[in-house]
Amino acid sequence: MSSDCLFCRIASGEIPGDIVYEDDELLAFNDISPQAPHHVLVIPKLHVATVNDLGAEHADLVGRLVLCAKAIAAERDIQESGYRLILNCNGHGGQTVFHLHLHLLGGRQLMALG
Ligand code: AMP
Ligand code: ZN
Repeated sequence: MSSDCLFCRIASGEIPGDIVYEDDELLAFNDISPQAPHHVLVIPKLHVATVNDLGAEHADLVGRLVLCAKAIAAERDIQESGYRLILNCNGHGGQTVFHLHLHLLGGRQLMALG
């Protein structure tokens, strides 16, 4: 837990989040500025700043992060229409909050990349 990290503070309950899923290890909440009808952020409760900080020891955690997003997509019945999972890293990746988070975006046609 990092006291100056926004998502650690949401995970600890210090700052309210619009939480859609929680277990011992993960938290999912609606994005405050949704870019699609479904825009959920899935985070590990463990503070990991960026994808660059992931190691082999985090492999299971990252797997569960993806499976959690998949389960939320299924719950919202968007698995067939489709959705996008995004991990932004650092400046060129457009990362603004430096606590690892997986974006789940769906409910509309998303633009092709590039
Ligand atoms: P990124 O640009 O990948 O770092 O994404 C950060 C995301 O966090 C953005 O989509 C923001 O809209 C979202 N965000 C920022 N503050 C909050 C908050 N308090 N609760 C929920 N989402 C937030
Ligand atoms: Zn954090």
